[in-house]
Amino acid sequence: MSEHVKKPWLSLVIPVFNEAQNLPELVRRCLTVCHNIGKPFEIIMVNDGSRDDSAQIIRTAAEENDGAIVGVLLNRNFGQHAAVLAGFAQSRGEVVVTLDADLQNPPEEIPKLLLPIEQGCDVVGSVRINRQDSMFRRWSSRLVNKGVQKSTGVMMHDYGCMLRAYRRSIIEAMLKCHERSTFIPVLANSFANKTDEVMVAHAERTQGESKYSFWKLINLQFDLLTSMTTFPLRLLSLAGSALAGMGFLFSFLLLTMRLIYGAAWAAEGIFTIFSILFIFLGVQLLAMGLLGEYIGRIYNDVRARPRYFIQDVVSGNKTDAQVTSLLSKESTRQELP
Ligand code: UDP
Ligand code: MG
Repeated sequence: MSEHVKKPWLSLVIPVFNEAQNLPELVRRCLTVCHNIGKPFEIIMVNDGSRDDSAQIIRTAAEENDGAIVGVLLNRNFGQHAAVLAGFAQSRGEVVVTLDADLQNPPEEIPKLLLPIEQGCDVVGSVRINRQDSMFRRWSSRLVNKGVQKSTGVMMHDYGCMLRAYRRSIIEAMLKCHERSTFIPVLANSFANKTDEVMVAHAERTQGESKYSFWKLINLQFDLLTSMTTFPLRLLSLAGSALAGMGFLFSFLLLTMRLIYGAAWAAEGIFTIFSILFIFLGVQLLAMGLLGEYIGRIYNDVRARPRYFIQDVVSGNKTDAQVTSLLSKESTRQELP
């Protein structure tokens, strides 16, 4: 009996968004690696509403590799982390490994992650040895890593690298979380007891381009910040009181000067007042923006919309259509040239 027919021990979860050029090589390399590990496995490929041929390639791969590859097709783009969660919900393995579809995380590094798991770790992160990303990306993620380390108390060096392994219990815990903005590595660490990190190689993206535009990155950073802590809110009131105190001192100073030097001095000091005013305005706007970030997320959580919407799950020759109406729409779309 081949390894993947039994209940899998290892599940790979791969989010895919417009990666048609990378998929054939990805599938080939992942299959080789999983076969070499020699334990029952499944490769779950989640199509995050790609607009290229990715869905079709995943469908074909799932049909050709009965049981070894499972395609989860979301009906539109929900974002990388929602896609990974959809993959988690589908996964059955004792150990779940996530990686990117763009081959920046070489699948050959997967066995390295499994060693610490077998020694009892709940979460195994990875550090990119020779990170192949732009200067801006490297600096922004260094900043993020520091923040996350402070707030979760878990020491990990590279939160940006999605080549990670999780034990089943951590996956189950994450699936119980219902907040809409999730950042998986941080969420996992808030449940993990024992964690470890391994060094992995990082390749340059050869096909297609990064799916994270400047704005999407900013969005991700806010997700990360608000999902892990409400500390910035407290910081706001602290900064607010400090500034209010300073403002009080300033007005006292201005009043004294006015009394000593007379009204003429005060009229010339008008720009000082303006500058103070602008400081306060700026801080207020900043504070309101940050409050808005939290309120926006509360709003989304209260609405409790599903994080993703599965259109179809393809495994072997069976497809289990979960949303029939959408499926019929999709099939008409696929018939178009
Ligand atoms: N991805 C996704 N949905 C999105 C954006 C990205 O599923 O909305 C996938 C993408 O296909 C890739 C992974 O997430 O497998 C990481 O994306 P990308 O390589 O563009 O990010 P970067 O390496 O630039 O951080
Ligand atoms: Mg990438």
